[in-house]
Amino acid sequence: MARLTVPAIVILGAGALATARRIQALYNDRDADANCQVHALQGRVDADVPYTELGAHLCELYARGTPIVALCAAGIVIRCIAPLLSNKGVEPPVLAVAEDGSAVVPLLGGLAGVNVMAREIAAALAVPPAITTSGELRFGTCVLNPPDGYALADIGQGKRFVSDLLAGESTRIEGEAPWLDDAQLPRSASARLAIRVTPRAWDGRADELVIHPRSVVAAVMGAGAGAGAGAGAGAGAGAGAEIVARVREALDAHSLAPLSLAALLASSEHMAHPALAEAAASLNVPLRFAQTRPEHGEPPANLLHAALRIPYETLHNDIATGVALALAPLAIDPDTIGRARGRLTVIGLGPGSTDLMVPAARKALNEATDILGYETYVKMAGPLRAGQRVHGTDNREEMQRARHAFELASAGRSVVMVSSGDPGVFAMAAAVLEALEASQDKAWAAVELSIVPGVSAALATAAQAGAPLGHDFCMLSLSDNLKPWTIIEKRLRHAAEADLVMAFYNPISRARPWQLDQALDIVRAYRAATTQVVLGRDIGRPGGTLRTLTLGELRSSDVDMRTMVIVGSSRTRKFASGTEGAEWVYTPRWYE
Ligand code: SAH
Repeated sequence: MARLTVPAIVILGAGALATARRIQALYNDRDADANCQVHALQGRVDADVPYTELGAHLCELYARGTPIVALCAAGIVIRCIAPLLSNKGVEPPVLAVAEDGSAVVPLLGGLAGVNVMAREIAAALAVPPAITTSGELRFGTCVLNPPDGYALADIGQGKRFVSDLLAGESTRIEGEAPWLDDAQLPRSASARLAIRVTPRAWDGRADELVIHPRSVVAAVMGAGAGAGAGAGAGAGAGAGAEIVARVREALDAHSLAPLSLAALLASSEHMAHPALAEAAASLNVPLRFAQTRPEHGEPPANLLHAALRIPYETLHNDIATGVALALAPLAIDPDTIGRARGRLTVIGLGPGSTDLMVPAARKALNEATDILGYETYVKMAGPLRAGQRVHGTDNREEMQRARHAFELASAGRSVVMVSSGDPGVFAMAAAVLEALEASQDKAWAAVELSIVPGVSAALATAAQAGAPLGHDFCMLSLSDNLKPWTIIEKRLRHAAEADLVMAFYNPISRARPWQLDQALDIVRAYRAATTQVVLGRDIGRPGGTLRTLTLGELRSSDVDMRTMVIVGSSRTRKFASGTEGAEWVYTPRWYE
């Protein structure tokens, strides 16, 4: 939870580095796992994470919800982020700090705790923060921004309440609100206004600010209609809604607010049941699981017993509807309740540049607790969020890495496995599935596995050249590490004879020096020397190059392991367009 407020510290020049390091130390000294990093403009100054363009980098961090501390003029930061400001609900904290540490200016993210960060950073730099929020100036805290584990019942109600306070009224505080202890609120036991911290639902009274501690856990038995039903049995679209209805009914029976819910809890046996995930998503709470034992008593309350490690009261235990409710005296950290269903997402990063990574892959990376993959790719996936664990490994140990991913995921972690390009094209997705199929481990089967596609090197290269894959084509790996060379030769002959355009992956390497020449000899037996060839090297990465030539001109020395080789069909053509002579290669979509 605390890790969410760890910012990316962004600097432009060497003059800001000393102040940046002081702010970084504030976070990293407090939490060894914080991994707060200084992002610096490449070529100007060396820090932890290089970036090439300030505007694009700030936007990317912002869009990912990463808090930003930018050591530059407030105006620069505002201008950079301005295009993204339409949605107030999702804004992470953004602060501008003077290079020399003399000013700390919170800019955005009032509801995400920007003023709290401004105070912390200003205290570390021994300057007063430039707080501009009126309620906060007056009371020393943002009353409408309760800490993690608490939820404001209604923002409209909250705003009215704060303006009443600003107009001179005082307030009572009912319930436990430790974060308000130091606030300079005008308090009075006889005040008309009240801040009420309670799991009970707001009854609509206008003179109250209701804040719900997330102190209730709902345990549900079974996963669909008919308590105790096995996973997969009769999982219809309505099963999730039906669970939500049962939980809401139980909450209602005790006048508990749905916002007081800290988590939905179910039996580990039903981990893979989609209705539970659907219900948790619709209740907007984490889904957690527990393994019950006979000594834990009767269901569904035995789930609470197995999962909760804090004192609580069982408010509700209805065997007929299969719902039990636990109420704790304070907010409960959902991470401490039972365990999560682990996730393994196999993603493709695309060829290299972040704009060619699909949003679903970006999302999986953002949500990951653990990231696995060949080190070069893991670096390409960055900058990672503070606190994310990286497990870099050597490229060759694919099966071992796949098993490692399942071990982490089956222990409840959110694991992302990265490949370059598309994960299903000569990459990790097949290894992951092979590991799963070979495993007898039920916990592995319960992992939420998904595969997110990416832009494969052949597609990225083709797009830069024009449309060489515009008609039938095939993708071949020329590596004989995992298959016999005779198979490769046979496929080359057939593909060449069938007049398919061919995209060669892994065309050559130091350990496989002769194979490409042999492959080209086979192709040349079927294709004219004038056949169009495209070479894409490091496409989408810094220093990437694209070359077009003919099969007759192609030499294996033009190619290395970072090159994609596209050999055209008899139909593939090249033409120059315009006075600048832009050259396009394409394969028409028709045959004569
Ligand atoms: N899963 C990856 C392919 C991995 S095999 C994908 O879908 O793209 C590795 C081979 O892919 C390399 O030997 C090279 O032939 C090709 N390749 C990967 N990234 C590339 C890039 N950025 N530019 C050109 N070729 C690339």
